[in-house]
Amino acid sequence: MQAVVFTAPEHVAVCQVPDPAPAADEVIIRVAVCGICGTDLHIFRNEYGSTFPLTPGHEFAGEVVAVGAAVSEPSIGTRVAVDPNLSCGACENCRRMQFHHCVRWQGVGVTRPGGFAEYVAVPARACYPLPDGLSDAQAAFIEPLSCVIHALRRVRLPPGEDVLLLGGGPIGLLLAQGLARAGASRVVIVERQPERLALARSFHLGDVVAAGPDQDGILHTLAPRGFGLVVDATGQPAVIERAPGHVRPGGSFMQFGVAPMGAMVRWEPYDIFRRELTILGTFALCYTFGPAIDWLARGVVETAPLISDTLPLAGFADAFARFGRGETLKVHVRP
Ligand SMILES: [Zn+2]
Ligand SMILES: [Zn+2]
Repeated sequence: MQAVVFTAPEHVAVCQVPDPAPAADEVIIRVAVCGICGTDLHIFRNEYGSTFPLTPGHEFAGEVVAVGAAVSEPSIGTRVAVDPNLSCGACENCRRMQFHHCVRWQGVGVTRPGGFAEYVAVPARACYPLPDGLSDAQAAFIEPLSCVIHALRRVRLPPGEDVLLLGGGPIGLLLAQGLARAGASRVVIVERQPERLALARSFHLGDVVAAGPDQDGILHTLAPRGFGLVVDATGQPAVIERAPGHVRPGGSFMQFGVAPMGAMVRWEPYDIFRRELTILGTFALCYTFGPAIDWLARGVVETAPLISDTLPLAGFADAFARFGRGETLKVHVRP
């Protein structure tokens, strides 16, 4: 079959690889759509602890075409999405219901072959059947939306909170919609790319501010005492360093974007102490596929405007490079 392979850090090729065969507890999925994600870039640049060669892709959906000997469901022909986070269920963290912190954690498309391929083998227990009304393109958003819902559960937004979101990329705009739905009075969005600014404005969730030298003055005018919740969705250390300065006393900062491993920022502990700031992390998802499927199936969040490109596997390298330069929104690959 054809598959994308990161042969070594910063090297990508679309190659012929052997078709996967299912282990006893696995199914084979014919991939319908797989989304390119910022995490794929971190993996590509060797900033995410993956080993090479690797077939990436962790945001996908498709149809079950073969099942292992011990699999009772899903059956052949079922359309499914896959939770790429595989936990052991037995370690100390799993037993505290912190499945995403499993000490034996494996990630489909991160530590084992993923969805940028015609076929992928995954454990049957990672599959979620799709409602009929949900398109393949929507289904490829279940994983990122699950991360958004996990973040919303982490932050427990007080109703009416004033929110600042730093970064209006495709997942930022998914998070912005989620924050609005979760009770924010407004979601002010800061973004650098002109096309993304225009798209952010079209959601009418709050003011949209161009990142740059005038940004802090505008934010100060919008919220003179600061925002109750500030969320980083850029992963950029320079942005993250300045984020607590936008939080009002008693407010929270949440790290949602993926910063490069090892990157450091300087914060003033006295400021965090004196103004009683809450600093919160959110990583991946923790059994939030169910609510994400429900939100998508019921049209609670809009995903169609977030897709800029849909292309076959052969177009991956070019689209991935454009994605890396910030020239696209969500890119969907249809193997
Ligand atoms: Zn992702
Ligand atoms: Zn575990």
